[in-house]
Formats: sequence, C-alpha cells, structure tokens
Amino acid sequence: MARYTGAVCRLCRREQVKLFLKGEKCYTKCVLDNRPTPPGSAKPQRGKPSEFQIRLREKQKLRRMIGMTERPFSRIMAKASKSSGNAAVVLMQTLELRLDNIVRRAGFATSLSTARQFVQHGHVKVDGKTLDIPSYAVKVGQVVALSPKLKENVGLKLAQEFCEKKAPRPSYLEYDASKLSVKLVREPSRDETAFTVNDQLIVEYYSR
Ligand code: SF4
Repeated sequence: MARYTGAVCRLCRREQVKLFLKGEKCYTKCVLDNRPTPPGSAKPQRGKPSEFQIRLREKQKLRRMIGMTERPFSRIMAKASKSSGNAAVVLMQTLELRLDNIVRRAGFATSLSTARQFVQHGHVKVDGKTLDIPSYAVKVGQVVALSPKLKENVGLKLAQEFCEKKAPRPSYLEYDASKLSVKLVREPSRDETAFTVNDQLIVEYYSR
C-alpha cells in the first residue's frame, strides 16, 4: 500500500479525533473544530459501530498518528506479540523510540512529518554518525543530535518555542541545548509515550 500523500486533516476527520499531524496549527487553527464531520459527508456518522469497527478505527488512529503503512505496522505488532512483555506496551515503546519520533519529542520539530524530513535529509546524527532511517530504533544511552547547520533555522526556533509552551520534553530524554542533542537515559513508560489511543483494542484487533 502506497504512503498517503493527501490532505492530512481528512485523516483526523475520518477518525473523528485530533491526530496532531500538523504541529502548532493543530492547537491554533484546527480544521476539526470547524468541520467535525467525516470527509465526504455533511452529517456526523450515525449508528452504533460494531466491535470490529471500534478496534479497526483504534488501529487506524495509531497507524495514522505515526504515519506508517499497514505492512510495517503489522510487522511491529507481530514482533510485540511475540515478545515476553506486554504486547501493547512493547508496541507503544517501539513506536515511541523510532528516530523520527525522538526528533519530534526532543522539540526539534513540531510534527512527525517535519522530524522525518530532518532525518531523511541527513540532518540527524546518532552517536556522532549521520543516520537517515526514520524507523531506526534508538537505544538507551544513545545521543541524538541535530546538525549544527540548523542552529539558526527559523523552523527549529519555532519548534523549540512550541516545545517549551505546549509539548515539554519527556523526562526519559536528557536535553543539551549547547549541542542541540538529547540522550535517551531510559526506556519510556506507556504513560510517557505520545500516542493517546486504547492500545488493548489494537492488540485485540491483531489477535483475531
Ligand atoms: Fe488534525 Fe491537526 Fe488538521 Fe486538526 S489541524 S485536523 S489536529 S492535522
């Protein structure tokens, strides 16, 4: 399945919930506030959803929040299910520790798509080495740094202001302003992850 390249606000309207895909705009000028109906419909969804639909929508919400296609997402889920820990928690931690998400959580970008762009364009280093793979799993003890070339970047400055005001850095990241870097000091707990979904429903969806 190809990556979705259409208007992202449609995804929020489809899920009927804010997925925060546009950074600061999601807090100030959210489309969902003015058009709370699903795309292609002038009326809210009617009827009681089935159990299957509830689980499917929860899975789609998370998949869209992280901007992944179905195949890699289900692969991560399969790995989480086989792990010795709680599958829901392992899934959330795996997504949280993706390099693009860490760049966003570090306050270097306001949205995941911008963070992903920084990674893909070679602006991010992990332990001193340039890494352009957004799905790379950051390990405890590793340092993620932004290229010093971006120090004067207007977008970065706005992102850092936004981070101070609306999305403070989680305590599992140790921030070094002089080096424009963060260190992963421990694994995040489920409550510290950025995804507000019912993870149990997602596990149930895949264990049909
Ligand atoms: Fe979703 Fe953000 Fe668009 Fe609102 S502004 S609909 S939260 S992407």
